[in-house]
Amino acid sequence: MAKSLMIVDDSATMRKIIMRTVRMSGLEFSRTEEAGNGNEALEKLNAEPVEIMLCDINMPEMSGSELVKKVRELPSCDDTKIVMVSTESSQEIIDDLLANGANGYITKPFTPEKFQEKLAPFMN
Ligand SMILES: [Mg+2]
Repeated sequence: MAKSLMIVDDSATMRKIIMRTVRMSGLEFSRTEEAGNGNEALEKLNAEPVEIMLCDINMPEMSGSELVKKVRELPSCDDTKIVMVSTESSQEIIDDLLANGANGYITKPFTPEKFQEKLAPFMN
């Protein structure tokens, strides 16, 4: 069964680049959603949860780490795998995100191979 995917990033250009890179990785999704901020993401997740979420960290209004905490409060998203995509690469920040419910981390600049490697474990 193909999985559903949501890309959350405040940059529309970055969402397009991520989407294109995901497609190049060869991974196939049954449904893809985009959200430009945390509130939009939560609204869409409330309407229909996704199985995999790619999430930016640095976003205005609601940071990626705040969004992770809020998604983890949604019972419908208990099984959603959250993979952060960011230039932020300090181990402290990564550890904090993982402790708060993120499932993985991809640093920019990324490659299709990197998406394949990090998302494949969640595709079954
Ligand atoms: Mg950003």
